[in-house]
Amino acid sequence: MAIKLNNGFKMPIIGLGVWRMDGKDVKNLILNAIKIGYRHFDSAAFYQNEAEVGVALAEAIQTGLVKREDLFITTKLWSSDHGHVHEACKDSLKQLQLDYLDLYLVHLPVATKHTGVGTTASTLDEDGVLDIDTTLSLETVWHAMEDLVSMGLARSIGISNYDLFLTRDCLAYSKIKPAVNQIETHPYFQRESLVKFCHKHGICVTAHTPLGGAAANTEWFGSVSCLDDPVLKGLAKKHQKTVAQISLRWGIQRNTIVIPKSSKLERLKENFLVQDFELTEDDMEQIKSIDRKYRTHQTAKFWGIDVYG
Ligand code: NDP
Repeated sequence: MAIKLNNGFKMPIIGLGVWRMDGKDVKNLILNAIKIGYRHFDSAAFYQNEAEVGVALAEAIQTGLVKREDLFITTKLWSSDHGHVHEACKDSLKQLQLDYLDLYLVHLPVATKHTGVGTTASTLDEDGVLDIDTTLSLETVWHAMEDLVSMGLARSIGISNYDLFLTRDCLAYSKIKPAVNQIETHPYFQRESLVKFCHKHGICVTAHTPLGGAAANTEWFGSVSCLDDPVLKGLAKKHQKTVAQISLRWGIQRNTIVIPKSSKLERLKENFLVQDFELTEDDMEQIKSIDRKYRTHQTAKFWGIDVYG
C-alpha cells in the first residue's frame, strides 16, 4: 500500500526508521526487512549510519533482491547544514551510494552552528544551550531544497517537525510545495489539527515515533510509552494483535505513513503485518479518547532548551 504524494510519486505507507540502529546491525536488518517486504527506509545524516544503510542498499540492489526503482529512500538535512543544502544532500547521496533520493527533508526548523558538512554536531554555547543560528531563514533553506529537484538529486522534498504556523509559512513562500511533513505523532500525541491542516493542503504526513518511542524514549527522555495503555491493550486482545500493531494500524487508518524502528527481526515482521486487519470506527474513537497531547521528545535534556517551546 502506498500514498500518492502531491507531485504524483508514491510513498509506501510503512517504512523502517533507522535512528538509533547500531551501525553493525544495519546491513542485516535492512536486508531482512527487504525480504519481509519493506521498501521504504527512513534515514538522516544525523543518525550517523547512512554509510551502513548505503552498504545494505547497494548489496540488495546488486544481488537482485530489489530494484532501485522499487525502493523509497528518505534522508534529512541536519540543522548545522542549513547553509549548505546542496553539499549536504550530495554527501548523503554518497554515503547512501545512491544517485537520487526519493525524499529529502529539512530535519528540524532551526539552524544551528555549522561544523562541516555531514558532521551533524549539535554544538552548545557557553551556557549549555544549543547554539542556534539566527541569520538563516527557513525560506532561504527551502529555496535551496527546491534546487535539488531541478538538479535531479531529490524526487520529492519536504519538511519535518514543522508546526502548523511554520507549515503555513512554507506553503506561502514555496515554489515547490512540501510533499511531506514528518512529525511526531502516536496515540498519546495525535495532533489532529496539524494532520488535518497538512492533508487539506496536499501535504502527506509521516508519523515519526509511531510507537511513542517505546522503551527507547523511556530510556532517553524518561517518557511514558503508549504501548502500556489499557485501551490499546484491550483492542490488541480484541483483534488478536499486539499493541504495537494496533498503534501502527491506527496511524495508517488516519492516512499517515508510519516508520517504526526495530532492531529485532521478529518485531520487523510484527510491525509490517498490519495490513491484514481493520480497526472499526468505534475502535478509532476509543483511540481518539486516549490522546494526552504528549510529546515524548524532550530536547531540553540534551540541548538545554526545548526547541518546540
Ligand atoms: P518508535 O516509535 O519507532 O519506537 C522505537 C522503539 O520501539 C524502540 O525501543 C524499539 O525497540 C521498540 N519497538 C519496535 N517495535 C516494537 C514492537 N513491535 N513492540 C514493542 N516495542 C517495539 O520510535 P523511533 O524514535 O525509533 O521513531 C521511528 C523512526 O522515526 C526513527 O527510526 C526515525 O527514522 C524517525 N524519527 C524521525 C524524527 C525526526 O525528527 N524527523 C525523530 C524521531 C524519529 P527495538 O529496536 O529493541 O525493537
